[in-house]
Parts: sequence; C-alpha cells; structure tokens
Amino acid sequence: MKKSYFTFGLIISCLSISFGQLYKVPFSQKVEKSDLILEGKVTSQRQVLIEEIPYTLNSIEVVKLLKGSPTLTSEVQVLTFGGNVNGERIFSAHTLTLRIGDEGVFFLTKQRNGIDDSNYYRVYSEKQGYYRERFNGRTKELISQFSKFNGRNTFYKELGLHYSEVGFQIESEKDNCLQFRIEPANTLSVESSSLLYFNLYVKSIEPIKLRSSSLKVNYNTNWFGQDIIMSGNLAIYSGDFNASYSLNTQDITSDVFEIKLESNALPTGLNYLDENTELLLCTFGVSIQDFDVEDPIYVENTQFDSKFYDTNGTLQETKCGEINVESQACSPEITGIDLKKSAGTESILEITGSGFIHDSAEPGDEWCGLPNDEHRVKFTDVNGDWVAPLEGDYLEWTDTKIRVKVPTEGYVNNSFNRSDYGMDEIAATGKIRVCINDNVFACTCYDTSDPSDNSNDGELYVPFAIPSRDIDPSATCIEAKSARLYSEASSFEIAFNIDALSPEAKNAFIRALNTWRCAIDINYNLNSTGKIVSLGTVPSGLFALTPIGVGDCPDGEKAIDPKSITFDASTSWHFGTSDPPTNKVDFESVALHEIGHAIGLLHTNNSDNIMYPATGAGISKRVLTNDDLDGGIFNQAKSLTPINCGSKLNPLTTDCNIPTSIKEAIAGNTKHLFPNPLSESLNIESEEKIKAVQFYNSEGIIIEEDTNINSKKYIKNVSNLSSGVYIIRIYTSNSIESLKIIKL
Ligand SMILES: [Zn+2]
Repeated sequence: MKKSYFTFGLIISCLSISFGQLYKVPFSQKVEKSDLILEGKVTSQRQVLIEEIPYTLNSIEVVKLLKGSPTLTSEVQVLTFGGNVNGERIFSAHTLTLRIGDEGVFFLTKQRNGIDDSNYYRVYSEKQGYYRERFNGRTKELISQFSKFNGRNTFYKELGLHYSEVGFQIESEKDNCLQFRIEPANTLSVESSSLLYFNLYVKSIEPIKLRSSSLKVNYNTNWFGQDIIMSGNLAIYSGDFNASYSLNTQDITSDVFEIKLESNALPTGLNYLDENTELLLCTFGVSIQDFDVEDPIYVENTQFDSKFYDTNGTLQETKCGEINVESQACSPEITGIDLKKSAGTESILEITGSGFIHDSAEPGDEWCGLPNDEHRVKFTDVNGDWVAPLEGDYLEWTDTKIRVKVPTEGYVNNSFNRSDYGMDEIAATGKIRVCINDNVFACTCYDTSDPSDNSNDGELYVPFAIPSRDIDPSATCIEAKSARLYSEASSFEIAFNIDALSPEAKNAFIRALNTWRCAIDINYNLNSTGKIVSLGTVPSGLFALTPIGVGDCPDGEKAIDPKSITFDASTSWHFGTSDPPTNKVDFESVALHEIGHAIGLLHTNNSDNIMYPATGAGISKRVLTNDDLDGGIFNQAKSLTPINCGSKLNPLTTDCNIPTSIKEAIAGNTKHLFPNPLSESLNIESEEKIKAVQFYNSEGIIIEEDTNINSKKYIKNVSNLSSGVYIIRIYTSNSIESLKIIKL
C-alpha cells in the first residue's frame, strides 16, 4: 500500500512525525547488536525516498572505530527516518534525527527487518544508539536517550576498551584563588596529527571578576626535544574574553609557552566567576613537528598569573576572598515561577526575580523581545538536557520579569543556529534557567529554579505537551505555534480501521479507544476506511509507531493528522483484560499511548502518565492520569473550533462505549449452543435437523465447514482453533442462524 504522508489541500508546508512507545535497550544489547560502533561526525546529508517513505542519508566521517570491520573506509552512510521531500518536512519523535555537524558515538547496524541491507547502516535502537558529548559545566558527559556516562573514560570502560586519549588533565592547587584545568579538546591520537588542541577552563573559589590573565605552560623537552611550536589557533569561548588574546611562541630556553588573555575594558567586559562556575576560556592549538614519540604529552610546573579587578575597574593587588562583586553586574535571581504549564500550547510562563538584564545590554539592543541575544530562558527537556525557546516566543523581558511561551520546539546542541532546533527536545518537568551572557549557549551566569541551587520557587511541572512548529523559518523572530487535529472534509471524525487485527487485539484496541472516548468525549471511531491499525515492523527499541502529519495552514495555524498505528509484530503481546504476565507486553496499555499520539499528544517525563515514552513487559497502564486527560481535553477543544483551513472535528454524540464483541446480526435463539465460551468441544442442539455448520473468523472468512450432518445434535472438537471470537452459521431446512462463540 502506498503511504501518503501529505494530504492537506491548503497546507503550504508539511511535516510528519512518528511516535511510538519505547523500551529501554540495555547497553550490552546495543553493543552486541551493532555491526559498527564509532566516533564520528555528520558531514553531509541528502534526501531519499524508500518505498514512498522519506529518509535522510547521512554521510558520517569516521573519527575513531570502536567496534567493526578494520577495512572500514573513512566514511559510512547512515539512513535515518524523515527529511525534506519536495519542500515538505518530515520528522520522527522516536526515531533519530541527525543534523550536519552532529558529533558523537554511533551504534550502527546493517540489519533491516532481519535482513542485511548492504547499502546503508542504520542507528541501532534509534535515539538510544547515538551518544553526544555535553559539557555540563565541570565535566564532559556522553548522553543518549535513557543513558548517560560521566566522561569518555567510563564509556570506554563499559565498552571494554582502554581509553587512550592523548594529552593530560591538570588542575591547579586548590588554595589558589583562581583554579584552572587543561584537557584535550579532541580525541586525535598523537600518531594521527601533529596539531593538538586543548581546552582551558578556569574557576575561582571566591567571586571575582577577571580582566586579564596569562597562563604559562611548561613542556617537557624529554618528550619533544626542541620541536614544539605554538600554532595560531586560539579560539576564545568565554563571553567576555573576546577582545584581545594572544598565544606566544615558546621560549626555547625555558621550555615555556604562554597564553595571554585580555578582556574589554571594565565594566562591560567582566568575567564573574565563583566556585560553582567553571568557564571554558579558550581552546588552543599546539603544533609539534617531527615528533617520534608514542606516549601522551604532559605538562609540568604550570602557573596561572591573573589580575583581579573590582567593580570599578580598579586593579586589586589582593589575595583570595578580598574582592566582593556586587550582584547587579551579572547575577540573575529567580524568586518566583509558575509551578505548572503545558508545553507547545502557547501557554505563558511568568518568571519574577531580579538582575534579569545584563549591565552590558545597551538601549537599542532589543532582539526579538529580549534585551539582546545574550539573554535566554532554558527548560529541562524530556532527556534532562536544556532546551531554549525560539526567539519569537519571548513576550516580555525586563530586569524583574520574564514572560515566555513554554516550547515543544527549541534550540539545542549548544547553538542558536536555526538548523539546530527539533521536535524531540520537548520542555518537560524540571528546573528552568535564566541565562545571561550566553553567546555560546553555555550560561556564564545564571540562576535556576532548583530548590537546592538558589532561592527560588521550585521546579516547573509540565503535565502534557502537544506538537508545535515555527510559523515561518525565514521570519526574523520565529515562534512555535500549537497544533490541532485536521481534515479536508467539511466536518469529520477520526476513524481507525482495525480489520487486520486478530479478534483479541481488536478488543484490546477497542477498550483503549473507549477509554479515551469516554474520558474526553472525543469523536474517534472505527470504520473500514479509517487509519490502518496493524501489526508490522517497527525500528528496534519500539513497541509501536504512530506517524503523524503536521502542516502549516496559510494563517499560521498548525494542523495534525494521524496516519496509521503499527504495533511490533515480533513482540510477545498480552491482549486480555487480566494483568499481563511478566514476559508479555500489554497491548491495551500501548494502544492507549499510541491513540494519545493520534490525538496529538507528545511525551512527558512523568512516568505515571500514559504519555511517558517508555514501558516494558508485565506493565499494565490502562488508566489516563489527570495530565493525560488535560492534554486530550486541550487538543480536543482546539480541534472543535473552526479554522481557516480544513474543518473542525465533530463532537461525539453517540454512546462512548463501542461494543468489544464482533458486530454480527444474530437471529433469535431457537437452537441451543453450549458451552460458551468454550475450549474443547462445541455442542449444538436443534428442534430441526441440522444440515450444515460453518465457522467464520472475525474477517468473515469461512475457516471450517461441515455438511450433510442431518442430525438434531452436532458435536465438534474445536481445541485446534486459536483463541478468539467466531461466528457459527447453522443451516436447517427452514432457517439459517448465526451465533457467536468465544474460544478460550
Ligand atoms: Zn510515544
């Protein structure tokens, strides 16, 4: 069957999102099932259509191979779901979306539906098979969906590999006022490059402002002889240390090279440091010529000479602890936030406090409602990472108050590049941050709503989320708009076609559908022309997949249209109403979650909710929480309102409970059929002689037939019939009668 993702007549551009309930894939399973594990970087992408479904083909440059073929070339081709096709944008919330420039560790498989696909690799278990590095302020973490490692060392150890990263890590003495740390900026081996990069971090044990400093690094001539030179590569990452810097070539006589850092004139160019803030000051390159050693380099006798200034810009020849910085310079403080807001619904979060405007913000700097682009609010996303709203979502920003829409779409990957926002980073329950001086996305000064961090009013609770997307990516200040259910029909209900399911799967699906129908009165129904519900193949790590189209109406409204629901055919399902055994996955629970996606709900990070992304065998979740209900009611109410493209959803006017039995006209009972339900044998007694008996399955297909019976009694052994509902058609000389039986 050809899959049509885009059916909106009036829609300018469309995208499609797939959702499916996930299970947490153990690390050992990812390692075992992957043909290749590598550190790599996405260098280019192109769009492909496979069986009418859009994909992105990613070229990944191999930085380091951790598992797999030693004959591997320097590049691999990796297929991911979704992309841009004919101007239409397609995304998947549970499948991995990569962007050019993405770096990390990829777990790759050539298996597709159990068959080797020689053309492309795929990421094993989708988002769970890609780890990216995140600098959390002190250490580098490797994070993936449901999984996190503190540093590469622990990650490599878990892989059973020795971590042989070049370089060293040095920390200054703890009693110094200013502490520093140097570590390699990349993982190149000494053999592979003579140009090595290092990151320099600093922090202070007391609040200070730092104007200029000079780091002198000794190197050991026993390793490098006279052959070390300093390259000109010195990238400054600190927000304020961007005015002047230099990297001196080495002094051969003393074996020292020197990094000098000078900031702008005070007070506009201040570095405010304290013991909780580690600042990535710069990355510097060291070029080594004609080296012939294999061991990592190291540095000794390093010292950091810095000058400290007070808030007036006066040089202080002081010792630690003697300089106190006034808070107004760059010290936001949250004193109040709303405690509960949904995401993607354009609901507005109000944050009150002080110091929200950096003193470097000049009149006229206004930028999309912000004082300037150094000011940001960040939300905790579903993976515990930070996500920042789009520019147009800020409604107000003063020194004491911020009003901002809670996003389902925001900036990620330490970037404000517009190619770096995605559907998968959804605002979720957790801390919020007010960040200032944030031009590389890492807050150099901030306050959070974490009770253990600063004075505040606690975490923001996000009960539900619905899809949103920018109205116009070419606009100056793009904003996310919430979506609603859509159809081209003049009025509509959303119907599912469950004909392909087994009788017991049908009943479980109908129970889940009834739960939603009766809870929020949503007009979701069953018919033979509806969205196909079936068992089939879904990516590894998923129990089910619900693709959803999201399009733009000309007036900026968003419209969503569920396409189908596919349950994983290889999963061992439990269809009954009893609790699932520990080795089976409850079909009704997963159906309830998938129908939630079809209603337009995204995930939350509250594991009580039906819309929490992960589940597993033996888990029964068949009751909607208040959060799930609030989300369903919100989108249903929005969908009942007319818009300028498409039409509104019809309200539900019939009984919310769809019967779970098979719909079949059953005539009057002049015959006695027993037992029912039954497991072994079927008995029929009739006043007239029975001529023939036919067994129909729920598809209406004859599966058994006995003719020339000519008896008032009929006994049939049915122990070989699979469990489910059947229709028995009984023929006599004068009547044809249909009766329903349930085989246990
Ligand atoms: Zn889901």
